[in-house]
Amino acid sequence: MRIPSDVANAIEHYRALTQGTVDEESICALAEAMVDLPHRLKKWGAELEYSPMEPEYPTLPGSEGFHQVASLARTADIEEEQQDGEVKWITYGDQLFCFLENLVKERRIGVMYEASAKELVQDLVTKEILGVKVESRGGAIYVKARKGVVLACGGFQNNHEMLVDFLPYATQLPIYPYGTPYNTGDGIVMASQVGAKLWHMTGCELGNFALKAPSEKFGVGFRLVRHLPIGSQAINVNKYGKRFMNESILLSHRKDLFKVQCFDHDGAEYPNIPFYIVFDETFRKKRPIVGMHMGWWCMQKLYEWSDDNSAEIEQGWIVKANTIKELAEEIRVGPDALEETVTRYNEYCRIGQDSDFGRSKEWLGPIETPPYYAAELCEPIINTQGGPKHNARAQVIGQNDKPIPRLYAAGELGSFFFPLYEGASNIPEALAFGRIAGEQTAGLRPWE
Ligand SMILES: Cc1cc2nc3c(=O)[nH]c(=O)nc-3n(C[C@H](O)[C@H](O)[C@H](O)COP(=O)(O)OP(=O)(O)OC[C@H]3O[C@@H](n4cnc5c(N)ncnc54)[C@H](O)[C@@H]3O)c2cc1C
Repeated sequence: MRIPSDVANAIEHYRALTQGTVDEESICALAEAMVDLPHRLKKWGAELEYSPMEPEYPTLPGSEGFHQVASLARTADIEEEQQDGEVKWITYGDQLFCFLENLVKERRIGVMYEASAKELVQDLVTKEILGVKVESRGGAIYVKARKGVVLACGGFQNNHEMLVDFLPYATQLPIYPYGTPYNTGDGIVMASQVGAKLWHMTGCELGNFALKAPSEKFGVGFRLVRHLPIGSQAINVNKYGKRFMNESILLSHRKDLFKVQCFDHDGAEYPNIPFYIVFDETFRKKRPIVGMHMGWWCMQKLYEWSDDNSAEIEQGWIVKANTIKELAEEIRVGPDALEETVTRYNEYCRIGQDSDFGRSKEWLGPIETPPYYAAELCEPIINTQGGPKHNARAQVIGQNDKPIPRLYAAGELGSFFFPLYEGASNIPEALAFGRIAGEQTAGLRPWE
């Protein structure tokens, strides 16, 4: 959780990140709620620990207060594991979720599982939201909300139609959710039906690329290992067999278009889609090429990846060939072009300088040990930021710019963060606006 150290810094920085898309009252409300969060969490029994983490935008005003992240203190049974630079982050998320879940249990708050909210029930005269229609195990249930409804059902990362409509490059780029596959934009549909304004719809957080074949099979992103091992004998190439990017850049939360998303107007095409990772035997044997400690597929244990990627070659998710030319034929890119690309890249490894894309020297491992391998890549989406617009009190705003009575929203469904985002802000934002929404709703008089 990226929790700012003081309110004044936070206001300045949030103002800079949101670039005029969020009103001043909401900026102040979030800044105050974020800075207050550690006190609240402590009051509820959490112990926090802090680690340094550079802000994404150190040059923007107020960034001085954004140099650390907080997590729940590790308990004795949780060990941090480090493998080729990949930290087992999953433990932190687990701990926070269990902590919150316990608070719900202690308060005997009922939770209905396998219950999908479908529609909001609105008084047609007063426009108040009176409850929710829920579909559960084949039947419809109407849940009465005495005071109000808080929508907190996440983004639209697993709604292909919305992705294509709102993210300009998604028509061609295969995108799979990196987290839960159940965030399908239902909150956007429900809020739209009762007249909500939408905001921040083109905002989303993307990460390092994923392997397309398993992502397609399981419907969630199988992301490449977070930091490819030092001296990695791997490159990314486009459909023409050419490199197109510096592969050593960490892509998470970047807001410049990844090269793969670039559209060539004159050629009326995305030249870098489809795109592939190409690597050699040395790289193949090092470790699993996907990250093993984060994302839905690992958490849900959907698949057990082999230590040396051999099972995935057997499955055909990774193709293999004895020469670069044969590999090119397998993935249907120009054999001469791919061979030339690899030769050129290997020369950069020899001289220790990538003159084309500036890949870091320590990442320049030559692709020279047969057999050779390739796999098509895709994009794992961390989360979307768009949804119903809300104000400083977390009230959902209608098309008439007035709050829709008794309707609130929190979390990534209509997130505050747009167009820029400081990594690790969505969870504390969900807690901050969730608290505001809860307090506001609890303070209402029942509508009966
Ligand atoms: C791998 C990964 C790592 C991340 N790391 C961080 C991090 O370190 N720090 C950080 O701040 N953020 C991080 N994020 C982002 C952050 O986790 C999310 O933005 C945040 O959890 C959003 O919280 P939320 O409560 O709004 O939505 P969610 O946590 O997504 O919860 C929404 C819930 O609503 C349910 N739902 C959807 N539709 C319906 C419906 N119609 N009826 C009933 N229920 C429904 C879904 O099943 C889901 O359980 C990460 C995300 C991923 C995927």
